[in-house]
Amino acid sequence: MVRRWTLVMTALCGVTLLADPAGLLHSLAATVTPAASATRSHPAAAGSQSRPARAPTSSAPQASSSQAPGPRTPSAPATTLPASTPAVPAAAALSPRNANYSIDADLDPSRHQLRGREVITWRNITRAPTREVRLHLYYNAWRNTRSTWLRERALVRPPLDVSRLGPDDWSGIDIVALRLLGAGSAPPIDLLPAARFIAPDDGNPDDRTLMAVALPTDVGPEGTINLAVEWLLRVPRTFARTGRIGDFYFLAQWFPKVAVLEDAGWVSHQFHASTEFYSDYGTYDVRLTVPTGWVVGATGLPQPAPAARDNAVTTRFVQDDVHDFAFVASPHLIEHNARFEHATLPAVDIRVLLQPEHAGQAERHVAATRATLKYYGEWFGAYPYSHITVVDPAWQSGAGGMEYPTLVTAGTEWLAPARVADPEGVTIHEVGHQFWYGLVGNNEFDHAWMDEGLNTYATGRALEAAYPPFHDSVRFFGDFVPWVFRHVLLSRETDANRMRRYRPDARSDVPATPSWQYHPATGRNLTYAKTALWLHTLERYLGWPMMQRVMSTFFARYRFKHPTPDDFFRVASEVSGQDLTWFFDQVHRSSNVFDYGIASLVSGPSTVSGSIDAAPGQANANAATAQAATTQAATPQAPRVVSQQREDGVYVSTVTVRRYGEALFPVDVVTTLEDGRKIRERWNGLERWISYTYRGPHRAVSADVDPDRVLVLDVNRTNNSFTLAPAGQRAANKWTLTWVIWLQDLMLTYGFFA
Ligand SMILES: [Zn+2]
Repeated sequence: MVRRWTLVMTALCGVTLLADPAGLLHSLAATVTPAASATRSHPAAAGSQSRPARAPTSSAPQASSSQAPGPRTPSAPATTLPASTPAVPAAAALSPRNANYSIDADLDPSRHQLRGREVITWRNITRAPTREVRLHLYYNAWRNTRSTWLRERALVRPPLDVSRLGPDDWSGIDIVALRLLGAGSAPPIDLLPAARFIAPDDGNPDDRTLMAVALPTDVGPEGTINLAVEWLLRVPRTFARTGRIGDFYFLAQWFPKVAVLEDAGWVSHQFHASTEFYSDYGTYDVRLTVPTGWVVGATGLPQPAPAARDNAVTTRFVQDDVHDFAFVASPHLIEHNARFEHATLPAVDIRVLLQPEHAGQAERHVAATRATLKYYGEWFGAYPYSHITVVDPAWQSGAGGMEYPTLVTAGTEWLAPARVADPEGVTIHEVGHQFWYGLVGNNEFDHAWMDEGLNTYATGRALEAAYPPFHDSVRFFGDFVPWVFRHVLLSRETDANRMRRYRPDARSDVPATPSWQYHPATGRNLTYAKTALWLHTLERYLGWPMMQRVMSTFFARYRFKHPTPDDFFRVASEVSGQDLTWFFDQVHRSSNVFDYGIASLVSGPSTVSGSIDAAPGQANANAATAQAATTQAATPQAPRVVSQQREDGVYVSTVTVRRYGEALFPVDVVTTLEDGRKIRERWNGLERWISYTYRGPHRAVSADVDPDRVLVLDVNRTNNSFTLAPAGQRAANKWTLTWVIWLQDLMLTYGFFA
């Protein structure tokens, strides 16, 4: 996602709790999928030391073929699970497919509600049995202000004005039926009485975003269970990129979702204000029912022939090998189709769903999507799905800038100037998440930097590769009117990597801290900006060809898996052939900052003052014999005393470099002489300071530490250069003029609207 705390809310009210929609309880199908109760040996764990590296292996049963989600409901009442599920050709599994969902969802915009039914087919791919499952119920994060999400959100400025929330603006997800489907003709077992909300992170008794469900028996390694769940969702005015505005609905985190079980136990967290998600891969087979005439975009490929009934249409979307599912529905979206083609990468159909007022920007969205698929595909690895949908969300929907498998929300504005990086920047970033998040699926609760940081770094690279530099800009009147600073070109080093965000919060948390424990107000600046800056630093330290091999090796090795930070660090050291632990210790396991600077540069004629002894050689030359020499030594000549005696044609220059930060990095120190010659030193950067002194026929005119800007993480670049001969008033004049022009432009803008 991209950071935008744009939450537009309207009025307050109490919380309406769900009455028991009892009828639903009887409507669950007695769907039975044979649970693979036999305990198998765990498939060989690939990736050695990674967390359960969930590689599909030949010994792992293909859950999707025999036990896939797909409502296999021969005995199901026709009113409940869908009547028919035409077989979808099973492609070779790319992922373990151990968390599979067959979902029916019925959106009722008139009540801002969604009714859902699902069968979760979940396989235990760890080495240990489990006697419970855990379900994420993210929509309860905005049930009331006592949730952990809203308590943490209160720490962020500006605060949410909940007094403006109306009765329909709050959300909730209420499970109304939860059953374990039995094998064969065995009846389903009601699990709801054994379900409870848990709050492992903060003990908050009012948080309902995580549910533990006790099972009647163990599910052993490779065992499979089928859970039938029914729920009612109240769709809020958007929180955290999901919700509605008018008749624009963007639904994410909207269904009960099974947490991730690892060998050490459930990796399940409540929903926190500063973190995202973590899920296993599987097949999603989802039937979405929306009012007739509405446009639907979703994860997965729409299947032909949507079913129409009453004033609603049901469209089925199917997608293998993904770990989430989101959709958009609105009567106002306009559709634009295009295709990505490439000599060595698979073709991808691009579907852009735009707000009508942005119809003219369709090609900008397509071009940015193509650029992402091209550059990420060439640098890291191919995008393996046949399609991608880019959604331009409604103005003030708060849904923009978020990633879901095969579906992203971008975000543009009315009046998007051509030389400003929206919608290009946000589109590249979100499509880029298909690689870092979608395909390499890290644990975003604990290691958010692994997708946001890698992706911010890659976004900057792709933007630079695909476009000439963009211009800085600001927006006035509630983000409505753009103003472009034509004199200010954005650079990858600082702007794309968000140096401005990193610098003030550089010490706010140690990045190795689990992300959900970062301070909610500052954590993202480490997750996004610090990571991007240190990856960029690593690129300049290793060189891009080596860095590209590091990234593509990591991508290939952990595609459809859940790598840990150590997995990335190990690949970097292995591929580069050098132990980079010293670097990761500092950027990841420490909050120290890097700051090298030139403390002083002194250059002038070589002079000497004080008493000067005769040189020893001179004394010996005057001695005729050894005896004479002995006599000479016994009665030394009186030293000559001089004041400021110059050595003709010789200059001495001394540069002193200091390490102002705690973090260590080898840096180059370049001293430039008046004849243009440069003297380059490599300092290991370990001590607090170092001095270099040069004697020669030329003065030094300037000194620079890290002149090639390898250490992009340096928090203070203003002290990196020292010049003895300033270029007069030139710089000052230039900047004064620029500011005057800005000011004039600004006044004209205000004058126009006054
Ligand atoms: Zn992101």
